[in-house]
This record gives sequence, C-alpha cells and structure tokens, in this order.
Amino acid sequence: MSKKACMACGMLFVPRPQIHNQLFCSNPRCQHERRRRRQAEKRASNPDRRANDALYYKDWLTKHPDYWKNYRASHPEYAERNRVQQRQRNKDRKNVEIAKDAV
Ligand SMILES: [Zn+2]
Repeated sequence: MSKKACMACGMLFVPRPQIHNQLFCSNPRCQHERRRRRQAEKRASNPDRRANDALYYKDWLTKHPDYWKNYRASHPEYAERNRVQQRQRNKDRKNVEIAKDAV
C-alpha cells in the first residue's frame, strides 16, 4: 500500500480506503490540527461563520461557567504567562495613547 506524509506531523501513514484523499494521519493531535485548519478556512471564507462560532462559544460558556476558573487553577503556568502578556498589552496600549496625545 502506498504511504503518504501527514500534513501536520509529516510522518508517513497508510491512508484509509474509506477516506477520499486523506491528508492527515489518525493521531488525535493531527486530527485536532486538521479540524482547526478547516475551521479557520471556513471562518476566512464566510464572515457569518465567525459570528456563529462566537455565539456558539458564548452559549457553551454559559453552560460551563467555571471552565476558565478551573483551567487557571489547574494550569498555573498558563495563568502566569497570560498575566505577563496582559501586562505587556496594557503597557503597549498606554504607550499608543501617550503617542496619540503627543500629536
Ligand atoms: Zn500526523
């Protein structure tokens, strides 16, 4: 059987005969990447899609109100990284406003 290189990890895999023109291997990480690229493509080609996805996410979040609270509690390195990045964004924003005032 002929093998193909996966578009995500680059590893060779044997495509399943049931799937026409399979580009990604069956590794869950590669399947996740395939889905991510497909969604990004759809969002780029259809402006309504982005609004729809935003609505879906908002709805999901009302059903899982503690998701981010729990995620931050169980991933302290994520929370700290985000804190540092937000501090930088706040600083950048302040600098832009100062630059605007100077004009
Ligand atoms: Zn792969």
